[in-house]
Amino acid sequence: EYVIIGGEIVDRGHATVDIEDRGYQFGDGVYEVIRVYNGKMFTAREHLIRLQESAEKISIQIPYQPTELEEMLKGLIDKNNLSNGIIYMQFTRGESPRNHAFPHNVAPTFVAYTRKVDRPVSSMQEGVKAIFIDDIRWLRCDIKSLNLLGNLLAKQKAVEAGCFEAIQHRGDIVTEGSSSNVAIVKNGTVITHPANNLILNGITRQKVKQVCEQNKIPFEEKEFTIEDVLHADEVFLSGTTVEVTPIVEVEEKKISGGTPGQVTKKLQQLIMDEIVKECGT
Ligand code: PMP
Repeated sequence: EYVIIGGEIVDRGHATVDIEDRGYQFGDGVYEVIRVYNGKMFTAREHLIRLQESAEKISIQIPYQPTELEEMLKGLIDKNNLSNGIIYMQFTRGESPRNHAFPHNVAPTFVAYTRKVDRPVSSMQEGVKAIFIDDIRWLRCDIKSLNLLGNLLAKQKAVEAGCFEAIQHRGDIVTEGSSSNVAIVKNGTVITHPANNLILNGITRQKVKQVCEQNKIPFEEKEFTIEDVLHADEVFLSGTTVEVTPIVEVEEKKISGGTPGQVTKKLQQLIMDEIVKECGT
């Protein structure tokens, strides 16, 4: 298994990072996960632009152009013969003696690796359960930062409750999942939280928006509440690894009769069409 470190493809066993890397000590860095279907990255350009934007928001300078980065990632996918899975990449602020203030003249640490991951076929077909949880995270959730403790605590609570995902909320307003965006369907309209500082603007969320607009499915970016979720016709998650996954039960209350709804199923198909268009079958 090969990985990228410092711009080179090396054997995983030979990739090392210093114990004073700021990613390790502070979570001082940004990351992306891109799905690979049929040996090809899906929405690579969008992910790499978001990576660049996340890095800029915390003043990390990525020393590659998105197209250059894309070529390096393609090289790794080929080298590892990855057909279906994910490619993970992160940039940290680099290695430097521990100090909260940013170091000067330190190069970011870049690592990337691939992993074989199957599509979540059964949860996409049957739907998953979720709980509600207080969104205790910071106010810059738009940055895809390595600081994921709030997200981890939320996910762990869901797992302990025998559920797949935690639907986070600030007051009554639903923000997003622990590692996914949340949308509801009410009277045929797809509603999801506006892309502001309180959520990560998911690439899958943006794809859902695009296919809704192309197929005349009403799509609104506006706040909705816990009550709206409980009374929604349909609820679904979107994300790189979960794609479009129906939520069929929240806090033990069944949504859309406990089975995936029609709009959700339609969106799964439309997203699949996009995947086939970009990556083939
Ligand atoms: N919100 C959070 C907090 C996430 O971690 C993710 C998954 N990376 C998403 C939303 C979905 O984003 P995307 O569709 O780009 O994977």
